[in-house]
Amino acid sequence: MFSPDYPGPSVFGYETDLPVRCAAMICVHTSPLADLGSKDAGGMNVYVRQLACHLADRGVAIDIFTRRNDPATPETVECCPGVRVISIEAGPAAPVDKNDLYPLLPDFAANVALYSVREGVRYEVVHAHYWLSGWVAHLLRRYWDTPFVQMFHTTAHMKNAVAATADRETGLRLRTERRLIDLADSLIAANPDERADLVWRQRTPTDKVCTVPPGVDLDLFVPGDREASRRELGLHPDRPVALFVGRIDPIKGIDSLLDAVRLLAHDDPEPTVVLIGGDLDADGHPTGALGEVARAADSMGIADRIRFEGSRRQDVLPTYYRAADVVVVPSRYESFGLVAVEAMACGTPVVATRVGGLRFTVEDGEGGLLVPPRDAAALADAVRRVLGDTDLRSRLGAGARETAARFSWPAVAAQISHVYARLAEGHRADLCCDDEIFA
Ligand code: UDP
Repeated sequence: MFSPDYPGPSVFGYETDLPVRCAAMICVHTSPLADLGSKDAGGMNVYVRQLACHLADRGVAIDIFTRRNDPATPETVECCPGVRVISIEAGPAAPVDKNDLYPLLPDFAANVALYSVREGVRYEVVHAHYWLSGWVAHLLRRYWDTPFVQMFHTTAHMKNAVAATADRETGLRLRTERRLIDLADSLIAANPDERADLVWRQRTPTDKVCTVPPGVDLDLFVPGDREASRRELGLHPDRPVALFVGRIDPIKGIDSLLDAVRLLAHDDPEPTVVLIGGDLDADGHPTGALGEVARAADSMGIADRIRFEGSRRQDVLPTYYRAADVVVVPSRYESFGLVAVEAMACGTPVVATRVGGLRFTVEDGEGGLLVPPRDAAALADAVRRVLGDTDLRSRLGAGARETAARFSWPAVAAQISHVYARLAEGHRADLCCDDEIFA
């Protein structure tokens, strides 16, 4: 049985993992210090920062390399003790669409290598996040003789399976991911489905893939006073509140959310929907992708039912989760779905789609309800059930916190440091495939 203190395997009672002291993480297209909730900053940024800080707590110093997109950012920023975020020059020091980054990757890799020479640092393991960073890890092999572990976060293969034609991922990404499966020394899948996809459909050797889910900050996301939270946010004390938190991206299923809001619009009492994510302009009006959502809501006659909050800092999210009666996660796909687990950690039930990681984190009828993706009627029904039944809501709320408690960062960092140790010793990470965290 998985235990949070799991130190890795032992032989006759002796630890076999030799400690890794220094690892590099590659995170080219987005920085772990970026503001969350915008188009390219969400779960992966949280994951990289939290994992790095918890690995550092275990004695592994981490350097995270990201592309400089602002000339004012210092080269090195300490993100927590033992973790540095290093901005590397490659292309303009300005935002570049992630689909245009591929040609900049050789420069990025060369400049990472130069940095390591200049600073005299050697890394025992490289951990690449997302396919672009995987390619950098591969290019770094020209300079460093260091094993690398790849985490895709999502694969084009799985994303295209649910994407509308206009949102399909490029052939370049598909081909590169295919090559990275062969090139990486180990792969980390965020949920058992992703592992199955890599092994069964993409023919990855089983001993190369581990399933390690992300974690959740169980000290920040804790249950609290609902009434006080509502007062703080200016929400009505008695009206039902449904909350959405996420990037404004088609994969998040916001179209289903709007359709469901329309179906709920004539309920009595009528729920308020709070939507967090995306950008507000200087006057506080939705803009960019969020502006499109607001216009769609307007044309459906439901704009006054939705409170558009824009992106919020993560440390204020617990207040929102506590104030809500239900958190809605209508995604077409989620590699893990941190928002669902954060909400559950605050003791708030979720209504989520039965896709990707959500199938494993949200136990139907325990911490929330699962519905089919792209089914606004089922989504609206499930939200109505939770809002209309106080007993069900408190039962799900209690189950939710219990479920979320399994995803602690120290437990995740213990598994990942075991992967690093195996790789540094010259093995694949075959012993880490402990799926019991999902049991
Ligand atoms: N988040 C945030 N502020 C926002 C929107 C999102 O802090 O305005 C955080 C949220 O707490 C979660 C992450 O961004 O930790 C989103 O992760 P998730 O796995 O739900 O979605 P992803 O972005 O990976 O698709």
